[in-house]
Amino acid sequence: MPDPRKNPLLAPGAVIGILGGGQLGRMTALAAARLGYYVHVYCPDPLAPANQVSNFSTTASYDDLAQLTKFARSTDVVTFEFENIPITALSTVSEITPVLPNCRALEIAQDRVVEKDFLSSLGIATTPYWSVRNVDELEGALKSLNGSGVLKSARLGYDGRNQTRVDSGDQASVSWRAMGSEKGILEEWVTFEQEISVIVARSDDGMTEIYDPVQNCHRCHILETTIAPAPIEHSVAETACGIACEIAQALDLVGLLSVEMFLTSDSDLLVNEIAPRPHNSGHWTIDACATSQFEQLVRAICGIPLGSTARHSDAEMHNLIGDAAENWLQYLAEPGARLHLYGKSQTRPGRKMGHVTRLKPITAGIL
Ligand code: AMP
Repeated sequence: MPDPRKNPLLAPGAVIGILGGGQLGRMTALAAARLGYYVHVYCPDPLAPANQVSNFSTTASYDDLAQLTKFARSTDVVTFEFENIPITALSTVSEITPVLPNCRALEIAQDRVVEKDFLSSLGIATTPYWSVRNVDELEGALKSLNGSGVLKSARLGYDGRNQTRVDSGDQASVSWRAMGSEKGILEEWVTFEQEISVIVARSDDGMTEIYDPVQNCHRCHILETTIAPAPIEHSVAETACGIACEIAQALDLVGLLSVEMFLTSDSDLLVNEIAPRPHNSGHWTIDACATSQFEQLVRAICGIPLGSTARHSDAEMHNLIGDAAENWLQYLAEPGARLHLYGKSQTRPGRKMGHVTRLKPITAGIL
């Protein structure tokens, strides 16, 4: 039978390149090291969290084509941990070494309008949205929403950055300036029952392994707590997993895909965002699952069969944001709590410094 894999099987000892040096790269590097792989991190910041736990690092900007080429030549496969890597950087690297997930998946996820158009083309429900390129277009779109909604920058926004609530009575020009970008997306403000997310791992031969959907609680647009599993009906969980698998397949994705959704009071699921990389709402998998999301990424891009996503404990993951990480000693003293610090030298308000996962006895699972 022909081998359905498009990429070679990489044995331990191979070099995995990671574009981006944040905590997602750090935890991917740790998972790679455990399986005997070498990691080369490419990142503009010499003090990046992933550099501290990797074998090789290149400190250079994402538009330095010479350094990107050198980096690509030193690796057997390259992945990314940061959404806003310029596509030119990815395509430069992909001419030399496989980049997984593929560039198209990242290109779609980088632009909220392109992302929602793509989801709509698959018939997947999203928050109602309008692409807006200037104040006039924003004024026109706001009329459909009785003057209120949430205006987001189409590109380069994360953790609530470049987002602004618009209420009826607000001046469109003021909201436009507050958003601060040339291209925006206006969305209806959805009153949801719950925010959930699903992470699916997909291998080169199209096999998928999916984690239990989790509930996410945000404060000021930043993820604060993830509860695994989400307290949702079994049928909703199945639908959510089906949506994630369908998107991963449509992208022909090899690696991880996380899908954030709003669950409405009518039990409808509206996709808010997708990310073709490890996700903050999957950190609990390190301590509570047979195979973590980071190990799945390593397995997928190296062509190793995916591991089991079965959870051996329920879990609650709490992000340590800003100076919350100063209580590290207290978390370490707590039985059942697992502390993860990211080695960031500078604490800033809103900055994710680490997380703590509290394990709990397993329940029957989804309601
Ligand atoms: P995002 O950057 O799109 O992931 O938004 C961050 C958080 O803001 C989400 O997780 C929600 O809690 C909230 N949010 C974003 N968009 C909407 C929306 N259209 N309706 C209601 N809440 C939203």
